[in-house]
Amino acid sequence: MSQHKPNTFRAGPDAEGRFGIHGGRFVAETLMPLILKLEEAWKQAKTDADFIAEMDFYRKHYIGRPSPLFFARRITAHFGGARLYFKRDELNHTGAHKINNVLGQALLAKRMGKTKIIAETGAGQHGVATATACALFDMECDVFMGAEDVMRQKPNVDRMRLLGAQVHSVTSGTGTLKDAMNEALRFWVTHADSHFYIIGTAAGPHPYPAMVRDFQTIIGNEAKAQILEAEGRLPDAIVACIGGGSNAIGLFHPFLDDESVAIYGVEAAGRGIDSGAHAASLNGGRPGVLHGNRTYLLQNDDGQIQDAYSISAGLDYPGIGPEHAWLHESGRVNYVSATDQQALDAFALCSRLEGIIPALEPAHALGFIGTMIGDMDKEQIVIMNLCGRGDKDLEAVLPILEKQNKLSGKLL
Ligand SMILES: *Cc1c(COP(=O)(O)O)cnc(C)c1O
Repeated sequence: MSQHKPNTFRAGPDAEGRFGIHGGRFVAETLMPLILKLEEAWKQAKTDADFIAEMDFYRKHYIGRPSPLFFARRITAHFGGARLYFKRDELNHTGAHKINNVLGQALLAKRMGKTKIIAETGAGQHGVATATACALFDMECDVFMGAEDVMRQKPNVDRMRLLGAQVHSVTSGTGTLKDAMNEALRFWVTHADSHFYIIGTAAGPHPYPAMVRDFQTIIGNEAKAQILEAEGRLPDAIVACIGGGSNAIGLFHPFLDDESVAIYGVEAAGRGIDSGAHAASLNGGRPGVLHGNRTYLLQNDDGQIQDAYSISAGLDYPGIGPEHAWLHESGRVNYVSATDQQALDAFALCSRLEGIIPALEPAHALGFIGTMIGDMDKEQIVIMNLCGRGDKDLEAVLPILEKQNKLSGKLL
């Protein structure tokens, strides 16, 4: 654990793309020129008035931003503690926060003169968002998806194809997200001149973790302005679920230097951290190198990457963005976890009490909140990122809730 206390938590990464010892740029020689070009293009774009105006336009008229900040009155009453607000990024076009990042990278690709896009996807949400942006901007789209996931997530495969994307079924390894990302990186090495790689979370080689974060900080920037308007002060705590960590860093980053705000990142504990069947890279993994950056990873004693498990397909990545690894070691953010069952209970609770069916991913954040918010003072304020809607999860969730007698509505 690093004991130094920086006067800002928002300055990273350094010139080499490192957050403390994490992050960096571990890529094939042939990719280096391309990565450097991308870094330069991003550096210029992010302060360019035309690029900013274009982003603002699509955020407002295509994604539907700003998303509301909603006071969850009935859940607040249910737990009897702090006031809970939802940042409603599930209302975005395509149903989650991923489009915030995808539109940004697609516009950057356009600016760089690229018309061919590649992406990796696990559950298919990032693939759908990428295929959406490619349809919008008339770009060619190749999506790499593990063969196992192609079978498990057929509706998203159908969506991507309808939007015009080619979906590559990846059979290497265990045919899941980490293999899809390996394959996408391999493909990129041989098509580096023609293709732009849109990474779906705040991970990968520098500049991706910082760039994806910058596109997602719209969440935290809006939330901060909205809570100041609604309550006249900052929240006491903010909470988000963690897969690779993009929605979380998007909410957290604008609050990192606000000392009074406690920050919680919620990993998926699956069947429990001790069971080994989980996706908690910080709580149950250790540092290593994967997909171009150093970070915490799920690995066995020999350093082999272990497949992550969670009931939520969007959280089962065996790594985590490097900035979170650093925020964990610096102690600024508390990384906690919620099990499948806690997420399922929160999924049912949120649907029943607020009329909002959340995705299973943010249901983990709400599951954790349920363990602590009741002990907080009634005057305190908590903001949770409700980063996706749950329509995609009904098929997986309903049979379980039915079996557990937790479907409160009846078919008479
Ligand atoms: C993909 C996804 C996640 C996990 O990704 P992060 O990069 O950790 O945000 C979480 N929630 C939803 C709704 C998703 O689609």
